[in-house]
Amino acid sequence: MLTLNYRYRIYPDATQEQVLIEWMEICRGAYNYALREIKDWCDSRKCSIDRCSLEKEYILPTSSPFPTEVNQLNNLPKAKKEFPKLSEVPSQVLQQAIKQLHTAWEYFQVRGFGFPRFKKYGQFKSLLFPQFKENPVTNLHIKLPKLGAVPINLHRPIPDGFVVKQVRILRKADRWYALVNIQCDVNVPNPIPCGHPIGVDVGLSNFSATSDGVIVKPPKFFKSLQGKLKLLQRRLSRKLDRSKNYEKQRIKVARCHHQIDNTRKNFHFKQAHALCDAGDLIFMEDLDYRIMAKGMLGKSMLDGGFGQFRTIVKHVCWKRGKFFGEVDARGTSQECPNCGGEVKKDLSIRIHDCPHCFYQTDRDIASGEVIRNRGLALISTAGLAGKETAYADKLPGIDVKNQSRQGSKSRKRTTRKAS
Ligand SMILES: [Zn+2]
Repeated sequence: MLTLNYRYRIYPDATQEQVLIEWMEICRGAYNYALREIKDWCDSRKCSIDRCSLEKEYILPTSSPFPTEVNQLNNLPKAKKEFPKLSEVPSQVLQQAIKQLHTAWEYFQVRGFGFPRFKKYGQFKSLLFPQFKENPVTNLHIKLPKLGAVPINLHRPIPDGFVVKQVRILRKADRWYALVNIQCDVNVPNPIPCGHPIGVDVGLSNFSATSDGVIVKPPKFFKSLQGKLKLLQRRLSRKLDRSKNYEKQRIKVARCHHQIDNTRKNFHFKQAHALCDAGDLIFMEDLDYRIMAKGMLGKSMLDGGFGQFRTIVKHVCWKRGKFFGEVDARGTSQECPNCGGEVKKDLSIRIHDCPHCFYQTDRDIASGEVIRNRGLALISTAGLAGKETAYADKLPGIDVKNQSRQGSKSRKRTTRKAS
């Protein structure tokens, strides 16, 4: 099963926009009500029976059952009789709001932290339409239940053989998007690790450096858009709270954030495709960039969006049938890629100069090479790499044309060794 998400911009007219905002508000109300039920149930069980209930009240009897997903969903029809406003929303969309809460609750149970929170005004930003009887997307419109046709910018067609499963309507700044979830009934073979390997090191002084010696400087828009955002935010802080001018300025700030987000994502996708053009195996560090973002260079770390970049590289590799691997990140900058010896250097030293074997190169390229070496060691220790590549040609569903020349060369070598 192949599932993809395509995002299209949609243009609801003023009345449709009002309806969508109204629906989000109603869903938010349902979400908060359901969360209150869960919280009340938890609070009624928090303090011992013989204690005074100064902090935790026994609102519910101890015998009352936990408000499970099924219970709360079953209570929706009753609630609709009491609050007719609830029936304005398509019932499946309303159910999704409750399901969303319980997904968060389950996740909290597993992780042990992250109790679901009440959503304030404006924090409920999307609606999920989980089921469609027929294809709702045409060239010009997307047809939504109870709302009718909304103009859509179908900037790329939905590929043949794919069926629209779900649609999520999303509001970002003052723009509307439709996230179309499409599925196709095919099996995608896992990419075979063979061909030209590339290790990628990301950082602040260079956005990325590969083991092939390609260095990408951090793009300028990171800084210039930050400046623009700062100006807009300063203007916002001088507006009277909740006034009309405040609202106008708030939208300007939101748009700027949205623009930064889009520009960065576009840049990341271009870089990821460039990596896939250059090699067949892509390796990156398994760093948790959020921890690094807590340090002194936090803002620039976040601005780079390295976590997102890794996710995008992973996705692009998957889409183009390239192999993606994560390697241990410890001390990649302190190791010599040529002889494996330890070379201590702090952040200010930009040149890697090995005292053991006199190998000299740029610091970031050196770490890229170390990452590549570690990645290759990772897949070869699995013991399957040679075997799999030897059989790869005859497997059905694998397009030989897609594999590069280097790929086929190394494959021949492994076969000869094996025979
Ligand atoms: Zn060395």
